[in-house]
Amino acid sequence: MRYSGQCHCGKVKASFETQKTPAELGVRTCQCVFCRRHGAVNISDPEGQIVIDAAPDDLVRYRFALKTADFLICRQCGVYVAAVMGEGAKTCSTINIIGLRMEDFLDIEEAAMDYDAETTQDRIARRYTKWTPTMFTDAELAASNFGPH
Ligand SMILES: [Zn+2]
Repeated sequence: MRYSGQCHCGKVKASFETQKTPAELGVRTCQCVFCRRHGAVNISDPEGQIVIDAAPDDLVRYRFALKTADFLICRQCGVYVAAVMGEGAKTCSTINIIGLRMEDFLDIEEAAMDYDAETTQDRIARRYTKWTPTMFTDAELAASNFGPH
């Protein structure tokens, strides 16, 4: 199945391909202050595929705390759409179904996740295991390093 969404203004689009149903996949609410301020609810599938369609100028790449990923925010409408880590073929991400308004996932019961106790190395390892392999339609973004920085 392929699920698509976009930010509020439509400049940032994402599509998510997975063999799992939304119920099988589940949705997660990271309890960090950034995610809660945005009301983010995230999904990922390490066997899936995400394609992010945006121009570099339409994205703010926000880094904070351990600076192990870039949080992508639409420069135009301010919506948080995805957190991305790695570079090249190792690029992976988790997408925010609320920011992208992905209807098929909105009714799934949320699992609250607290990653506060992780070390930097734990965090990076978990993301490479759990996040979704990710591509960008834009060549400059596809060639980027999204962290760890
Ligand atoms: Zn936008």
